[in-house]
Amino acid sequence: MGQQVPKRKLGNTGLSVPIIGFGASPLGGIYQPLDESLAVQAVHEAFKFGINFFDTSPYYGLTRSEKVLGRALKDLPRDQIIIATKVGRYGADTFDFSAERVTRSVHESLERLQVQYIDIIQTHDIEFGDIEQVITETLPALQRLKEQGVVRFIGITGLPLKIFRTVLDRCAPGTVDVILSYCHYCLNDTSLESILPYLEQKGVGVINASILSMGLLTQQGPPSWHPAPEEVKTACKAAADQAKELGSDISLLAIKAALRNPSIQTHLIGFTKPEQVRDNVATALSQLTAAEEGTLSNIKQILAPIQNVSWPSGRPEN
Ligand code: NAD
Repeated sequence: MGQQVPKRKLGNTGLSVPIIGFGASPLGGIYQPLDESLAVQAVHEAFKFGINFFDTSPYYGLTRSEKVLGRALKDLPRDQIIIATKVGRYGADTFDFSAERVTRSVHESLERLQVQYIDIIQTHDIEFGDIEQVITETLPALQRLKEQGVVRFIGITGLPLKIFRTVLDRCAPGTVDVILSYCHYCLNDTSLESILPYLEQKGVGVINASILSMGLLTQQGPPSWHPAPEEVKTACKAAADQAKELGSDISLLAIKAALRNPSIQTHLIGFTKPEQVRDNVATALSQLTAAEEGTLSNIKQILAPIQNVSWPSGRPEN
């Protein structure tokens, strides 16, 4: 066995998850054409490094991500992998959190993923739904599937941090095992920190996504659809340029910096090729050098004026 990505305990689930999880949204192939055979190799490469946690959704590539992931996972030992998928979101503007739809959705995901059970089922981007319905209808439907052994753990995902408290304050302990937050724990936004003690006290596991803030913290910059306000994009570009001038790559600094916080158990990164897996694992396993620490504090000053500036998502009342 070669180098292994370290693991951390995921809340009260009893699961140990690698500090880097495999974000499978790019396996949907919607942003770039996808080479499926390379994508399958990326999944296998990840597993070799101990990245045995895979996150997908029926929404990613309108079911393609689940299908490609299912093909790849077929070759891996089921009891050694942790599969997370989602219910409720089926298109950019298509949501259905009803008990009937989410129950059917889980069974559809089982088929596409070619498995008998799902480890973590998450209600996807709940700020787009009626939170009351999520609490009184969606989560109880998932609970029934948990009792039947179809799913092992239940989660909720979304962008505005306050939705997590809204739901968790109203649910009995053990109803929600994990939350998935994105774009709130990266160099330009660390607001997720504010709810970590609350989540820890509740025993809820923390899955963090978008450590590169959906491309803001990359040398090539974000995709055209990125929802951040212009001042955030400008500051992140200046930070990326500064990192380059000082001989570093902002993405590598961002990944290393994020992985240091032990209260965040896993960070999802999107991969479509085996070499991306190898590069990111090498980054994750190396410490920041003194020079990189210096560059990091330099970058943080550039990002200070836009720190924790986010963007609207979902229904205004959520
Ligand atoms: P990401 O960290 O994967 O990256 C954003 C972009 O940076 C991608 O284009 C990626 O290819 C690129 N990238 C990755 N590593 C890089 C590196 N070392 N250098 C340069 N560029 C690099 O973030 P993401 O795609 O936003 O999220 C990752 C995963 O998290 C998704 O696949 C999904 O599984 C999950 N996620 C879930 C939700 C939700 O449930 N609402 C939201 C966002 C993300």
